[in-house]
Amino acid sequence: MADAAIIDGKARAAELSASISVTTAALVDEKSIKPGLTVVIVGEDPASQVYVRNKKRTAEACGFNSMQHTLPAESSQDEILALIHLLNDDASVHGILVQLPLPDHLDERVITQAISPAKDVDGFHFQNIGMLTAGHVDEAFVPCTPAGCMLMIEDQLGKDLSGLNAVIIGRSNIVGKPMASLLLQANATVTICHSRTKDLPAVARSADILVAAVGRPKMVKGDWIKPGAVVIDVGINRIQVEVDGETKNRLVGDVDFDEAKEVAAAITPVPGGVGPMTIALLMLNTLRSAERTGG
Ligand code: NAD
Repeated sequence: MADAAIIDGKARAAELSASISVTTAALVDEKSIKPGLTVVIVGEDPASQVYVRNKKRTAEACGFNSMQHTLPAESSQDEILALIHLLNDDASVHGILVQLPLPDHLDERVITQAISPAKDVDGFHFQNIGMLTAGHVDEAFVPCTPAGCMLMIEDQLGKDLSGLNAVIIGRSNIVGKPMASLLLQANATVTICHSRTKDLPAVARSADILVAAVGRPKMVKGDWIKPGAVVIDVGINRIQVEVDGETKNRLVGDVDFDEAKEVAAAITPVPGGVGPMTIALLMLNTLRSAERTGG
């Protein structure tokens, strides 16, 4: 069998961002609405700083107002809630994102649920989750990572997945569960696996579409994959490898890419697959939010 097609998430995300900038320019021209995305970051987590910088850069490239509030790690829950209430009431802000993880003394659930559902571009508010689960995908803000995965799956297989088996490994609220709702809505037959699933390789092998969102480097082996499957690797794992006697950091996914590409029809690489799409979908959600305020 020929090697799998490598799904270029970076190029697809760039294409999406370019079309978002065109629509944004028209929204500014015709309705004087400039999409505004505000990121709230609490503390100094280095990985979060990188993610936030990337989001800011992409927002600016799309022609958005990009704002950032950086609060000290010891900020109280009330201080953060007060800021969110201000942002909820600010008409120039269309999207509010609180960068996770938050320091331990803060209640992630209380904080994410304080964001107005109309500005919840991460799609974490229960109202948006409910809307997605009930099948109102076009009205909900869908979490950015599974929404990006879904676009890449549609590129490969079309919008109607009738008759196809989709297997998701991972049942988190931000990836696994919303991914299942999206695939179900597209008529796939969906199985969600997790750490208690029995004989995971056998279940994975039944998948025409396999989504891995676990956080375990190269867990999914080549012989877990059905020949011809579309494989979406959400995992981002930092590992250390020896190169010419030197220890180097490397990012790898949850799928053993070299093995999987021998079997799959198409696969996303890590990095350069799901990651860039997640950021592009955040921009799309923010643009949609701004468009909704325009009547
Ligand atoms: P999570 O820790 O919230 O969930 C992991 C899931 O994997 C759980 O449901 C758990 O049951 C399951 N799991 C754990 N061990 C397992 C095992 N041995 N067998 C089967 N299932 C197992 O993680 P998450 O937030 O969903 O993220 C998953 C991965 O995706 C992480 O590597 C994360 O960094 C990455 N991620 C990437 C993006 C992106 O934009 N590319 C976005 C979000 C998350």
